[in-house]
Amino acid sequence: MNAVVSPGPIASPLPVDKAVQLERLLEGLAPHELYWIAARSSVLAAGVQTVAPVARVQAGERVTVLYGSQTGNARRIAEQLSQRIELAHLPVRLVRADAYPQRELAQERYLVVVISTQGEGEPPDDARGLVEFITGRRAPRLPSLQFAVLGLGDSSYPQFCAIGRQLDARFAELGGTRLASLGEADVDVEAVAAPWASAVLERAREVVVKTPASVTRVPTLQAVPSRTTYSREQPFAATVLANQRIVSRDSEREVRHLELSLEDAGLSYEPGDALGVWPQNPPALVQQWLDVLQLDGAQEVSHEGRSLPLARWLSNERELTRLTRSFVTAHAAASGSDELVRALQPEQSADFARLLAEYQPIDLLRLHRGVWQAQALVVALRPLTPRLYSIASSTRAVGDEVHLTIATVSYHAHGEPHWGAATSFLAASDEDARVPVFIEPNERFRLPADPSRDIIMIGPGTGVAPFRAFVQERRETGASGRNWLFFGNRHFEQDFLYQLEWQEALKQGALHRLDLAFSRDAAEKIYVQHRLREHGSELYAWLKDGAHLYVCGDATHMAKDVHAALIDIVAEHGGQSTEDAKDWLAELLQQGRYARDVY
Ligand code: NAP
Repeated sequence: MNAVVSPGPIASPLPVDKAVQLERLLEGLAPHELYWIAARSSVLAAGVQTVAPVARVQAGERVTVLYGSQTGNARRIAEQLSQRIELAHLPVRLVRADAYPQRELAQERYLVVVISTQGEGEPPDDARGLVEFITGRRAPRLPSLQFAVLGLGDSSYPQFCAIGRQLDARFAELGGTRLASLGEADVDVEAVAAPWASAVLERAREVVVKTPASVTRVPTLQAVPSRTTYSREQPFAATVLANQRIVSRDSEREVRHLELSLEDAGLSYEPGDALGVWPQNPPALVQQWLDVLQLDGAQEVSHEGRSLPLARWLSNERELTRLTRSFVTAHAAASGSDELVRALQPEQSADFARLLAEYQPIDLLRLHRGVWQAQALVVALRPLTPRLYSIASSTRAVGDEVHLTIATVSYHAHGEPHWGAATSFLAASDEDARVPVFIEPNERFRLPADPSRDIIMIGPGTGVAPFRAFVQERRETGASGRNWLFFGNRHFEQDFLYQLEWQEALKQGALHRLDLAFSRDAAEKIYVQHRLREHGSELYAWLKDGAHLYVCGDATHMAKDVHAALIDIVAEHGGQSTEDAKDWLAELLQQGRYARDVY
């Protein structure tokens, strides 16, 4: 172990011997044990009696607000709700799912869960263990439990809010009663989350005993909230400093590197965090909508207390590029199309999932002509939501700038050009343009607190973005651990993102290993997981020695295939059965030593 131990970016005030002692003590502790230590330390530091709040509140007499969050929405809603409960002078604790001591479930009286569903009906990484426990055979009976679940999801996926639904049904099955009925929030989260939270709060006021000043809060591993006033709701208008194509001109795809200025924003970020971007829809797409529906863009439309021209609603306020069940339903009525009505039948679910994945709303408008009034259209369309991009820079290296790596979504389908909203918006944002942004902390995707730990980064395509930030940060802080990057893309010649920077980092000793997988240069596909397998023995040795493992990029195929390769590697080189290898990796995930930023 390296003699100088400092907890990441926070400079340690401890002398080396104490720092080493502390590091030894913390080594291998489970997250909930670390949280307990953090909570106790902060109480001691504040000079407050440690027992006071806990003693006054019986274990089950407070409201526990649990969240499982991948992109930060569930966390934000849970934080807001627990603040409201706290302001109502009701005892509350806020806990991230992987910090929740499962043995306490049997004693809970009031449990509120806010949880998202990923891609094909999976829980977020931080809630995998807890969801497995609650839905598994070892879950206790919960006859005294009053619960409420808010599921978050994206209705353009067939398994919309599946995890929220599953937990809601399971708590009832285990004997619990509902404080409030299940909330199912779509990407415009607040539309459902706000009334659901009010209903939970109202009910909590009726049933939970008030105990003033007795709030217990289990700290979560979140970044210190920034003091700035800029947020998701009030984004900062960041100036574009640079916007360059970073694949060669003959590449099949366009990938761009963007540099934005955060000067005077008072915003700060850590490597691993994401930048939220509020996009505008492509002007050409807005025009297509107006043309196909024969509507006048200048027509004023009033909705929810605001009056704007229709073109502005479509450009800045409404989601035009993602198809949802509710829009298909509305357009089936507007067009009278039997085909769409049939597609909506439950027995057509596979075809319907394909429809959502392969068509944008504009395709439906073209294929099934219908009559829409401007007002009805604005009401039927989902509000535009911000997109999150993993930050590709470290402030230690770039000061008050923030860098992004963006693959422009642009393709031909159904005989017409198609665009992605945010990537097209960013691609078209020239120097000096202003982009509305905010920081979305990703507390689950952090460099090891101990800089002497090795890290293994797996990031094909634009999934390499956060690893540029990691390598910059470890170089600037002089972290002594080794850095190993697996990168893959289509072609070596055209698509080797940040090639010169990696070569420079290798030369400087800021990157220790780089393994590459170019999928379309040979007759057979070579992916990052092939390289992982080739170096399985060494990779396992790094992991055994405490390396942290990170995966970023596509969730649907890549992250699953990489996980399968990791299971095989651990089984083969660790001499374990497949089941034990799965458990070993699950434990690594639980400890936060295997982190994923995938979607
Ligand atoms: P991409 O072109 O889709 O893929 C990059 C490379 O991965 C290609 O060589 C591709 O090969 C290969 N690949 C395809 N299937 C694979 C599999 N099952 N296992 C391993 N490799 C596989 O990359 P991209 O468009 O840059 O997108 C990367 C993904 O990262 C997107 O889903 C994006 O949403 C996500 N993401 C981006 C960020 C960010 O901030 N930029 C952050 C998090 C996640 P072939 O195409 O030749 O098959």
